[in-house]
Amino acid sequence: MAEIKFKIEGEQETVKLGELMASVCIPLCKKLKKSVLINLEGDLGAGKTTFSRGFIVACGYKDIVRSPTYTLVEPYDFEDFSVYHFDLYRLLDPEELEYMGIRDYFEKTSVCLIEWPDKAQGVLPEADITIELSYSVDSRDVVIKSELIEQKDLDTISSNFR
Ligand code: ADP
Ligand code: MG
Repeated sequence: MAEIKFKIEGEQETVKLGELMASVCIPLCKKLKKSVLINLEGDLGAGKTTFSRGFIVACGYKDIVRSPTYTLVEPYDFEDFSVYHFDLYRLLDPEELEYMGIRDYFEKTSVCLIEWPDKAQGVLPEADITIELSYSVDSRDVVIKSELIEQKDLDTISSNFR
């Protein structure tokens, strides 16, 4: 299991982390031709949506990235892959996801960014990457864990924040 911890200071660094993760995850997703699940853990205001915005914009999306708080999921289709941005905060019953056809999302060549994965326990496949963001006033502590990403790639990402 590859793992890294570091600190990011200010919103722009969270956006940058999203961009850097996209540059590692999208090639992996295209190579494996499967869905790569990224669980985004952390309280309200930890930076999960900010991270997702950086990730999605780095994929080439030109419009405003909206928080899928009410829609549960926002799809972004690119030429040969998709990004599905989930926010499960308002999910009342994991069964709702079955009605939405959530399995289809996990069968595509896609990256699934999942805010509040705990709300869907038992329904989501196991994450390939877990990102924990914890709140401080002017910064966030980040822990990234993955079986899919190589340690050297995580080391390179964190070296951008020193
Ligand atoms: P979440 O989706 O986890 O609820 P958001 O991304 O919507 O969080 O909001 C995070 C808030 O924290 C935003 O106001 C953003 O400007 C701020 N923020 C994001 N990253 C950092 C950071 N690394 N340091 C300080 N503030 C941050
Ligand atoms: Mg959010």
